[in-house]
Amino acid sequence: MTFKMVWFPQAIPRHSFLVWLLIHRKLKTQDIMSKWNSSGNANFSLLCCSLCTLGTDSHGHLFFECNYANQIWIGIRDKAGMGMVQNKWDDIFDYLVGIAHSKMAEHVIAKLVVNATAYFVWEERNRRLFTNKRRSKDKDQLIQVILTTVQMKLTTMKFKSTIQVAQVLQDWSLPRGLLVADDDSG
Ligand SMILES: [Zn+2]
Repeated sequence: MTFKMVWFPQAIPRHSFLVWLLIHRKLKTQDIMSKWNSSGNANFSLLCCSLCTLGTDSHGHLFFECNYANQIWIGIRDKAGMGMVQNKWDDIFDYLVGIAHSKMAEHVIAKLVVNATAYFVWEERNRRLFTNKRRSKDKDQLIQVILTTVQMKLTTMKFKSTIQVAQVLQDWSLPRGLLVADDDSG
């Protein structure tokens, strides 16, 4: 079941790979790394989330209970029809399970958006942790990168022409030329 929700035909492979690791709790977060270090000299500043500097650098915190990550989630979820989905990975995971096999445009978009959001939040976390650089103080910039990446992907796809899908394309500022007549249903 988890396979389909991550690896679907329109998926961006590097995003899917990251979410696959996330689902299986295989990302090298600091809480996990510190368990490998049994010397007892854990550097507690390293355990700190590099995005908000308050929480713990862990799967649950980064995706997306962290105050910074939560603002990213709130900034993108409405555009992907997930306005009711809270910023907890378990809730997001449950939602993805429900739409894993769906080919509806809004569900494919939701999967692309979740994958891209996890990918870019993790990338920003790494950037701050390992280079002390940040993309920007402004969270809006990261939100824009996520939405633009998904939008670019959507321009490579074709959509069955329905009123609902036409609205989705309009919401994403996509050309109506991506719509194709649904004449292969019979
Ligand atoms: Zn945080």
